[in-house]
Amino acid sequence: MDFPPVKGNISLNRGLNELTWLRVGGPARTFFQPRDKLDLKYFLSSYQCDQPIFPFGVGSNLIVRDGGINAVVIKLGGASFNYIEKRGKFLACGAGALDSRVAIRAAELGLDLSFLRTIPGTIGGAVSMNAGCYGSYIKDVLVEVTLVTRDGLEMRLDASEIKLGYRFSCIPEGAVITEAVFDAPSRDAGCLKNKMKNQLETRNKTQPATERTAGSTFKNPSGFSSTGRPDDLNEMKAWKLIDEAGMRGFELGGAKVSEKHSNFLINQKNATAFDLEELGNLMRKKVLQKSGIELQWEIIRVGIKK
Ligand SMILES: Cc1cc2nc3c(=O)[nH]c(=O)nc-3n(C[C@H](O)[C@H](O)[C@H](O)COP(=O)(O)OP(=O)(O)OC[C@H]3O[C@@H](n4cnc5c(N)ncnc54)[C@H](O)[C@@H]3O)c2cc1C
Repeated sequence: MDFPPVKGNISLNRGLNELTWLRVGGPARTFFQPRDKLDLKYFLSSYQCDQPIFPFGVGSNLIVRDGGINAVVIKLGGASFNYIEKRGKFLACGAGALDSRVAIRAAELGLDLSFLRTIPGTIGGAVSMNAGCYGSYIKDVLVEVTLVTRDGLEMRLDASEIKLGYRFSCIPEGAVITEAVFDAPSRDAGCLKNKMKNQLETRNKTQPATERTAGSTFKNPSGFSSTGRPDDLNEMKAWKLIDEAGMRGFELGGAKVSEKHSNFLINQKNATAFDLEELGNLMRKKVLQKSGIELQWEIIRVGIKK
């Protein structure tokens, strides 16, 4: 297979299990780490093939299936995608920068992006997923996003153009986000430091954050009316429905529903992606039987079953 002469690294059949938080998954048929944005644009404009493009952050929201991904997986690394810089009153971040680093740097500058402190992904993944917690979301602070399309063209879009919703965005198919610009509220740096310390403590108490997991498995079903009346909408918590279905602590193969937080799946004993996905599907089935509610996956499942 002929690849364009890029400056970054290209490899074939690169195992993704070491790169995902769940530590499962087969190989990427093609794996590309561009040196910088020019390299990425050059690769995408000159490499026309029938494989889709799959941008990859740090795999903190993914189950990569055991048969791998038949795609060009693109991972942004290195200094040219990791910058965090003040531009006037805004903060511009490379899409490879870790959310936690962005929150810490923002706080040093007196800007409140503290909700990113406990999210273990990258800025590219956070924009794509409209990540959020503690009542704040990327949508609240995003001003503009830069991406490179499947054809290698650079585009700058206003935040409104990507239509961010609950764990949802309209990023063009195959496009790779390279930068996000935020307008964050100003706050005292010391207060932000304390706020993030408290958030970390709370997270460590309530979530299995040091285990092999991918965060919330299912979205919270919102807008659900338990009485059938449209004026009686309430937000249901996925973990509560899972508890009510008796699934907390349930095990399948090497996969387990966390005892600490029942909306988290964990890879406790060398689980396969199959174990984890099957357990998730079983949770959905049990919740549907118990409460009549169909949980929707929040974890993105990609690739081929073995
Ligand atoms: C312990 C734990 C706690 C978590 N807590 C939270 C939380 O509080 N709130 C929350 O929202 N999430 C949470 N998550 C889930 C996860 O961290 C977020 O969804 C995160 O935004 C995913 O980022 P990532 O870089 O790992 O993306 P990945 O998991 O690698 O990919 C996720 C999606 O983003 C796309 N993507 C990644 N990078 C790019 C890019 N550069 N351009 C275009 N698309 C891209 C991928 O194609 C994929 O569709 C948690 C996960 C864990 C493991």
